[in-house]
Amino acid sequence: SSTYVELQVIRWLLEIMGFPASGGGILVSGGTMANFIGLAAARDAQADFDVWSEGLQSDSGRPRLTFYGSEATHGWAPKTANVLGLGVDSFRKVPTTNERIDVPVLREFIERDRAAGHQPFCVIGTAGSVNTGACDDLAALADLCESERLWFHVDGAFGAWARLSSTHADLVRGLDRADSLAFDLHKWGYLPFESACALVRSLDAMRRPFAIQGAYIAGSDRGTIGAGIPFADRSIELTRSFKALKVWMSLRAHGLDHLAALIDQNLAQARELVRLVEESPQLELVAPCPLNVVCFRYVTRDRSDGDLNAINTELLLRLQESGFVVPSSTTIDGRFALRAAITNHRTRWHDLAQITELVVTLGREIESSS
Ligand SMILES: *Cc1c(COP(=O)(O)O)cnc(C)c1O
Repeated sequence: SSTYVELQVIRWLLEIMGFPASGGGILVSGGTMANFIGLAAARDAQADFDVWSEGLQSDSGRPRLTFYGSEATHGWAPKTANVLGLGVDSFRKVPTTNERIDVPVLREFIERDRAAGHQPFCVIGTAGSVNTGACDDLAALADLCESERLWFHVDGAFGAWARLSSTHADLVRGLDRADSLAFDLHKWGYLPFESACALVRSLDAMRRPFAIQGAYIAGSDRGTIGAGIPFADRSIELTRSFKALKVWMSLRAHGLDHLAALIDQNLAQARELVRLVEESPQLELVAPCPLNVVCFRYVTRDRSDGDLNAINTELLLRLQESGFVVPSSTTIDGRFALRAAITNHRTRWHDLAQITELVVTLGREIESSS
């Protein structure tokens, strides 16, 4: 049955990410959902009262549960803070340098909250920030969480896959020490939407927010639910699509070595795109490129950032409408950037030079008509 396939896929993914076989996980729609599950597990494992029964609404003067992540943390965190009843103010955004969390400041935030009577419960590490692919010092965060007895959650939506790289695995060192990890298969796992995964070191912790009993889902070791319904107890969903099949198929058909080679290829292609950008007087890098996300823009002399933002916004739309390449965009320190997140197994080397040439051509066109 589909359950056996998903159980097998989870065993493989635990191994790939360096989690113990005694851990567990589930496939979900996307990174947002996978991160949500990690934080739900963290909340219920760390609260020193029964969240399941009592919720967070008791007026018994309990401390506020606070959690931490960098300013570069993805938008799933505030959404989740709200839905889990924690409140968005309980999410403490720690400053960054080049989108990497400042660990000493994080430590101060935690101390300050404890002194104020709050209960810090979780630190989020980001492996591959959405804007620029920056990776927090996960080993330092793991050390801190260990010594402070905090839950360590890693958002590795695409960055977790750097673990397989022969050149960049070091950037995500410490990821395998997380209590929970979220990552997508539909980004750097080269699979179609929707497929992502939440893993936990302790399966009990994942079940705590979600396990229910009901006559209509009673297990059996025979019949059509001979495998039980284990995944009903690992997320908010009961009826789910068979996402495990494409993951199983991909891992079986291509194998891990093939996946690792493609990841290395994308990483090398990002370096090549950076080189092309740096080589061109009409292009400029807008952020460092530690991983596979290249943020750059068209530039021209004597133009303000405001002008350049307008030119590059128009440029982005023309690029997308050209049908040749579909970058996304972001704004970093007030500078609008074209954002090339290279996660495609079909990206060819000569595409990169064609992209930079097209950007320059379109940039000149826009400039001369404005
Ligand atoms: C894409 C992304 C997410 C959200 O994942 P979805 O699959 O779009 O829900 C979360 N965190 C990071 C760092 C991401 O890049």
